[in-house]
Amino acid sequence: MPRIVLTADRALFTDFSGLDALGFGLCLPVRLMPSFVEYRILAPRAPLRGGRAAYAPYALAKVEASLLAAGFTRDEVVIVPPEHLDDVIDEDTELVGVHVVDPRGLAPVSWTLRVMTGGGETCTAHEFRRLMERVSRLKRRYHFKVVVGGPGVWQLRGHTGEYGIDVLYEGEAEVDFPLLVKKILDGEETPGIVVGRLANPEEIPPIVTPSRNGHVQITRGCPRGCQFCKPTTFIFRSIPLETILREAELNARAGAPEINFVTEDVLLYGAKGLHLNEDAVKRLFDETMRVVRRYGVSKVTFSHVTLSSALVLKGAVRHISEVNNLSEGDPLFPQVGFESGSPRIVARYFRGKPYPWKPEDWPWIVVEGSKLLNDNYWYPCLTYIVGFPDATPDDYVKTVELIDRLRDEGFKGWVFPLLLIPIGGTRVEGKAGFATLEKLPPEALDAIVAGWEYSIEFSERIYPVLVSKIKNPLARRIVDLLIDKALNAMRAWVRTIRTEPERVATDYPKVNIRNLRGLLSTLLASSLPVRRSRGHRCQAGHVEEEAALA
Ligand code: SF4
Repeated sequence: MPRIVLTADRALFTDFSGLDALGFGLCLPVRLMPSFVEYRILAPRAPLRGGRAAYAPYALAKVEASLLAAGFTRDEVVIVPPEHLDDVIDEDTELVGVHVVDPRGLAPVSWTLRVMTGGGETCTAHEFRRLMERVSRLKRRYHFKVVVGGPGVWQLRGHTGEYGIDVLYEGEAEVDFPLLVKKILDGEETPGIVVGRLANPEEIPPIVTPSRNGHVQITRGCPRGCQFCKPTTFIFRSIPLETILREAELNARAGAPEINFVTEDVLLYGAKGLHLNEDAVKRLFDETMRVVRRYGVSKVTFSHVTLSSALVLKGAVRHISEVNNLSEGDPLFPQVGFESGSPRIVARYFRGKPYPWKPEDWPWIVVEGSKLLNDNYWYPCLTYIVGFPDATPDDYVKTVELIDRLRDEGFKGWVFPLLLIPIGGTRVEGKAGFATLEKLPPEALDAIVAGWEYSIEFSERIYPVLVSKIKNPLARRIVDLLIDKALNAMRAWVRTIRTEPERVATDYPKVNIRNLRGLLSTLLASSLPVRRSRGHRCQAGHVEEEAALA
């Protein structure tokens, strides 16, 4: 049996039915997530192939590659989904490595959804707790060491005893993780927290286990320096094209329907600092497409882009769309941070993001950049932050005005508010607390509502395209059926936040649709006649509210 076992919880060790965006559903409180929706649709089980995971979260595949590059053998290291830990762990096991992203439900989307829906343990935290209960049970029997690493490690500082963790590993794996593993296997003492040094791009080995949904990392770090952001604390590097092509080919050969570049900004590929490199970006897409086409893959997508980069590299934006043959019915959905409509907040917290323009140009960049993306069939999820420590009502008004301008321009995409999180290691850590609704002025609530309303409207228009990307036909059908109910509930919820925000704290925590009974009573309530209304406002709207709260 292997000496080193690598795993992650069910909220990470899944392919989200082939649609990464479904993973955000796992940021909801567990009481608001019917278990069959979680385990059948959002986080279906990852399969095994030859006793190993058929695919893994990208970071775990990278950790495995680092160990192999450092001299460990394939027999010594195995990646398995959490359900199979009992099958591979025994007296030979000396170390279990756990990858974490949001182990206590404190990441921005999780915290925002918790606060806005009345609180409670998120699915992400629930799954991590379940995993660590299983690991702890096995540890008591086999006495291995538990090392936890990944971008969510900051949430576990001060909580290692609670979860039976021996070492928290922060930072990159390539240089120091194999050294730590060797020490543990040699029985040497190790500190409770280890910070891994950054790797040179040439030291980063290609993965050997295919990654979930064809993920391939193309850059690390970001040179823009936003104060609330963790990746910017790492030096910016582009991964060598040869490594990228090998990983893309591995994934395509393993059956990935598309290749998905993991990056903070796809248009930074090959850049020197903030001097962008159009040729490098075009070559990246051309070469990757050339390699993966042989396996029937015709899509090379990416996770994030920055609006200022897009306005600088318009030619690259067009090229990516042409290479992917995008259209109205086949667009891309990248994530983009617009953060605030107030140039004062831009100058204070993210003045590098508009570069080469100035903070006062930011509203123009957001509008023109969004138009450019839409013209090329990129329908982004624009996120913005509510709760900057010294944000004034006027700053929030400017954000609402910017959302209104986007509406006037016919923007196609989501506009999604996130509450400020003082993520460990960022420049706002220690300067800001976790934002909550009670601490916010009414103008901030207006800003939240403006974004949600826009996003609900766009979801209604686009969901058939999104749902068509779900691989499993049954899951596709179920999501299709549930989506109308979900959008109705969201409309009612947004109305409540606008008119009676105090009900978020009093009524919402009582909602529980985790089990079938709770879900059925909610669905039933949503079809009850108007007389159920308590009758002090628009009746139709109120029935929807009761449905959302039942
Ligand atoms: S542009 Fe994005 S990735 Fe870069 S520092 Fe700012 S928030 Fe972070």
